Amino acid sequence: MSKILEVKDLSIAFDTYGGEVQAVRGVEFDLHEQETLAIVGESGSGKSVTAQSLMRLTPMPPGKFTSGSIMFNGENLVDKSDKQMEEIRGRDISMIFQDPMTSLNPTMTVGKQIAEGLIKHQNMSKKAAHNRGVELLKLVGIPNPETRINQYPHQYSGGMRQRAMIAIALACDPKLLIADEPTTALDVTIQAQILDLMREIQKKTGTAIILITHDLGVVANAASRVAVMYGGKIVETGNVDEIFYQPKHPYTWGLLSSMPSLDSKAEELEAIPGSPPDLKDPPKGCPFVTRCPYAMKVCENHMPEYTDVSATQKTACWLLDERAPDVEPPQSARV
Ligand code: SF4
Ligand code: MG
Repeated sequence: MSKILEVKDLSIAFDTYGGEVQAVRGVEFDLHEQETLAIVGESGSGKSVTAQSLMRLTPMPPGKFTSGSIMFNGENLVDKSDKQMEEIRGRDISMIFQDPMTSLNPTMTVGKQIAEGLIKHQNMSKKAAHNRGVELLKLVGIPNPETRINQYPHQYSGGMRQRAMIAIALACDPKLLIADEPTTALDVTIQAQILDLMREIQKKTGTAIILITHDLGVVANAASRVAVMYGGKIVETGNVDEIFYQPKHPYTWGLLSSMPSLDSKAEELEAIPGSPPDLKDPPKGCPFVTRCPYAMKVCENHMPEYTDVSATQKTACWLLDERAPDVEPPQSARV
C-alpha cells in the first residue's frame, strides 16, 4: 500500500490573551491507503487540532504552524494558500464531524449538499450529480434514496443524518477521510452501525481514514493503527493489538483502565485522576508527569525519547530506559 500522508515534527500554537498555547508539539505519523489510524486522547490532548490542521480548518491566526510539515500526495499542506486548500478540501481530503446538525445545511436538501462538491470539483452536470447522490445514499444504507435525496436534514433521524454526512464526505472519492468523534453523539447500536459502514466503505473505496476519538472501544472496532496523544504529543503509537495487549505507556494503561468492557460495572472503571497540563506553560519533561503513578525524578525535567518496542510500536516513557525499575501494567489495564 502506498503512503499517502506523512506528518513530521508538526507543532501548532495559538495566540491567546493569556499567552501562547502550544496545542500540538512535534507530532509525527504516517498513513497508507486503506489504513485507519485512530488518534486517541482526552479533550485538550491536541488530537482535534492535529486533525483539523490536515484540512487547514484551524483558524490562522490565532493559530500558527510553528514547525514541521504535512506531506500529502507529495505536497506540503503547510505551505498551501487558503485558495489551494479549498481545492483540496472535499476533493482529496474530507471530514466528518460529531454533530451532523451543525455541519449539514438545514436549508438545503441532502441531494443538493451532495451535488455541491461534485459540481464544484468534478464539473458534473446537475443531473449526473443527482444520480451519483442517489448511489451514494444507497452506499451509506439510506432506505428509499430516490425519495430521501430530495428531503432536508431535519426529515432524517440522527443516525441517517450521520450517514448523509458520510455520503457528502465521500462524494468526490477522497483519498483521506478524517472523522472527528463521528459516533460520540449516537446511541450504541447506531454507533456500531456507523463504524461498520465506515469499514465497508473503506473496503470498497480504499480511502484512508483518520479517526479522532476519546473512546478506546471505538478504536478496537475500527482502527488498524493507534496514536495515543497527551499534552500535545504522541506518547505511544502501535498497531491495534500492540496498544491493547502490550501497551507500555502509563497513560495508555490509564485509558485502558477507564474503558468499559462487557463484564465490568460502571463503578469499577477507573478514571485517571488529575487534569491535563497547561499548554501555555507545558512541562519541560514528560507531559504526564503530574498524573503518572510511576513518575520518577528524571521525568520532571527531561522529555523521554521514543523507544522502539517493536517494528511498529514506539513509546515515549522513561520506564523503558534500561536504568528504570521494572513496572508491570495494572490488572485493570488488561483487556
Ligand atoms: Fe510516567 Fe515518567 Fe513515563 Fe512520563 S516518563 S509516563 S512520568 S514514568
Ligand atoms: Mg475534539
